[in-house]
Amino acid sequence: MPEIKFIGTSSGKTSLKRFHSAFIVSTNNYRMLVDAGDGISKALLAQNVHHDEIDGIVITHLHPDHFSGLASLIIQMKMSRRTKQLDLFCSEDISENLKTYLKISYVDSEKLDFELKINRVQSNFNVVVSPGLSFIARKNTHLIHYEEEFDKERLSSSCISLLFQFDGKNIFYTGDIGGKNDLNLFQDYPIDIIIAEVTHVDLKYIIDFALKKGINKILLTHIPDELEKSLSRTLSELSAGSPIDIMLAYDGMTYNIQ
Ligand SMILES: [Zn+2]
Ligand SMILES: [Zn+2]
Repeated sequence: MPEIKFIGTSSGKTSLKRFHSAFIVSTNNYRMLVDAGDGISKALLAQNVHHDEIDGIVITHLHPDHFSGLASLIIQMKMSRRTKQLDLFCSEDISENLKTYLKISYVDSEKLDFELKINRVQSNFNVVVSPGLSFIARKNTHLIHYEEEFDKERLSSSCISLLFQFDGKNIFYTGDIGGKNDLNLFQDYPIDIIIAEVTHVDLKYIIDFALKKGINKILLTHIPDELEKSLSRTLSELSAGSPIDIMLAYDGMTYNIQ
C-alpha cells in the first residue's frame, strides 16, 4: 500500500527525541527518501529500514539537517555491496556543490558496485521517477537571502518545495520554507495532503491555507523540541469539530495513503 514513513521529524536543532527531518514515500514499486541530513543512516537503522530498500533520494537544499548524511549513507550502501541503482535528485542549482561534497567525502562513483545516477531537476518540470510516481519541484524563499552570495562564495540560494503525484493523489511537501507565502507555491494544483514544516511558518497560517484550499489532511514535521508542547496543545484544542485532520509526526510514524 502506498505510504509515507517518517524517518526523522526534528528541526535543524539536534534532538535526543527525534532525528533530523526525513521521510520515505513508498509506492508499489519505488521508495523515495526525501532528504538525508546528519544522522540519516542511524535514523534508518532505528526504523528498521535497510538502505537497500531505498531506490532514490531527493535532496531539497544544502542545510546540514537535510543533506549532510548523504555521503555516509552511500558509503553504508557500498559496504553492504549494494548492486541496485541509486537515483539522486536535486535542483540543478545545487548539483555541482553536491557532487563536490560527495567527491571530497571519498564517494567515487567509479568504485561503487551500483550506479549512482544524479538527476539535475529543473524547477517546475514534471519528473517521472517510476511508473506511478512523479514530482514537481519549485524553488521557495527559504534561502533567498543567499542570492547574492552564489557568484562569490558558491553558496546556493536554492531550496525546493515538492509536489508528489502518485496513486491519484497530490501530496505537497513544503520542505523548509521562507515564510507563509511559500505555502502558495502549488496553488495551481489541487492538494490532497500537505506535509508542512513548523519551524519557519506558524501553524495558524498552515491551517488557514488548508482551509482555503479544502485540504483535510496535514502532517507536521521539522519540529523543534521547544515547540512540541504548544503544538500538541493547539492540536488538541482544535480537534473537536475541525474539518481538518492534523497530525504531529514522530519518528517511525507511517501514514497510509488511501
Ligand atoms: Zn531544516
Ligand atoms: Zn533549511
